[in-house]
Amino acid sequence: MTSERTPEETVERVARSLRLRLEDDGRAGRVAVPRAAHEPPAPGVLRGGMSPAASAAGSRREPTAEAVGDVHLPWPSRAPENRAAEALRKELATAAQHVEGQDLFDFGSPDLEGGVGRQDALKRVADEVAQCTLCKELADSRTQTVPGQGDPNARLVFVGEGPGEEEDRQGLAFVGRAGQLLTKMIESINLTRDQVFIANILKCRPPANRTPTPDEIANCLPYLMRQLEILRPKILCALGGVAAQTLLQTRDGITRLRGRFHPYRGTLLMPTFHPAYLLRNYTKDARQKVYDDLLQIQAELKK
Ligand code: URA
Repeated sequence: MTSERTPEETVERVARSLRLRLEDDGRAGRVAVPRAAHEPPAPGVLRGGMSPAASAAGSRREPTAEAVGDVHLPWPSRAPENRAAEALRKELATAAQHVEGQDLFDFGSPDLEGGVGRQDALKRVADEVAQCTLCKELADSRTQTVPGQGDPNARLVFVGEGPGEEEDRQGLAFVGRAGQLLTKMIESINLTRDQVFIANILKCRPPANRTPTPDEIANCLPYLMRQLEILRPKILCALGGVAAQTLLQTRDGITRLRGRFHPYRGTLLMPTFHPAYLLRNYTKDARQKVYDDLLQIQAELKK
């Protein structure tokens, strides 16, 4: 599949998966990496301010927080083929490492630009998800997409792995058996489903509920990232290993990760067991562990 992509497609895909915004101003194409305004440019890697082309042309740009936060890299369609694309891929990877450590929610959400409210911004993401065909197998087999749903002002967001059969049928996250248990989990800390936001790493059901592939996760993650930038929750709860490992970028298992908050780009992330796992292992010990994790969330929300 990868070998069929042009260098431009590959770079675009990498950039999307790194949640970078691609811009083409029709004159000097560029990749804009949103950065926290207070951060100095990373030496030797990223140039802040204007694009080299704009700079050479002598154009002036006020050093607003946004301008300072932009980093411009050459757009490959105007660079000599593969070598330039390869160089850009490396720069993107370096930029990604740089962005990784930053406070995701300091960037502000491009989806909210122009005074669009959270609900509208979330709908915009959901509309894009509904059109998405990046994963051909999933796009061909899904009944509908499952973008996630809940309170646009939620302070707590649950992230699962991907829709199952019932979710695929209804277009809503966590409405099957695992979803019913998730409802109980939410209610155990005196909240309702309406007060939280519930989403998944994948927005389409993998056939036969198989585990998402790395390519599928890379394709789909930018949608979740945009949702999180819009929601800016106080706490994220990752349900199960796939969600926790994807968000925390680790191979550590859920048993090791759960039970404590992990700093996550300016917010706090609590990994806990997936309700589907709990259904399969409905032991007192497993239930107690999940409840302990939820109590920590409840206490943190009260602060
Ligand atoms: N399991 C998940 O991870 N997500 C759902 O939406 C349903 C089941």
